[in-house]
Amino acid sequence: MSHKPLKLIIIAGSKGRVTVKYPYQEPLITPEFRGEIEIDPAKCIGCGACVKACPPNALELLESEKEVILRYFVGRCIFCWRCIDVCPVNAIKGTRNFELATDKHTDLYTLVVHTRTTCEICGKPFETTRMQRYIAEKSPVTEEYASICPDCRKRLLAEAVSARRVGISEHKE
Ligand code: SF4
Ligand code: SF4
Repeated sequence: MSHKPLKLIIIAGSKGRVTVKYPYQEPLITPEFRGEIEIDPAKCIGCGACVKACPPNALELLESEKEVILRYFVGRCIFCWRCIDVCPVNAIKGTRNFELATDKHTDLYTLVVHTRTTCEICGKPFETTRMQRYIAEKSPVTEEYASICPDCRKRLLAEAVSARRVGISEHKE
């Protein structure tokens, strides 16, 4: 028989109580502690990178004809802070807040509402207005495509490639 459990009891007895009587006593919150996240609606561009990185789907993008809504449900959050690492505009910050109990379920949700742009060619709604502005600022070379949806971009590219192919074969003959 192993003496390990007995050893542990002796150690535990000599150390005394190591937990605190929360909520009557303040718990120890270390600088490394990870709590609820906060999303800055003024910075968010609605790109969805955080949604893709979130393991338990605590972040979601809800898309309608006119809007894209980033929804954070703290009830699902595991406080891993992966979303902070992937946000291209530093719109998410981590807090030490862990006291999240509430009797109003709406308190558990944070919504960031974005308007959507429509494709200049086919008229379909696609990315958010802020995302479009962000891409144009970061990559001015793509500016002429910024107002065109991905499907129309693909079609234009395919047409350009096939036009070039036809040009080459005509030149050979
Ligand atoms: S902290 Fe982790 S679980 Fe919570 S929203 Fe961010 S990625 Fe998702
Ligand atoms: S990654 Fe950042 S900018 Fe993109 S949707 Fe999430 S919070 Fe907004």
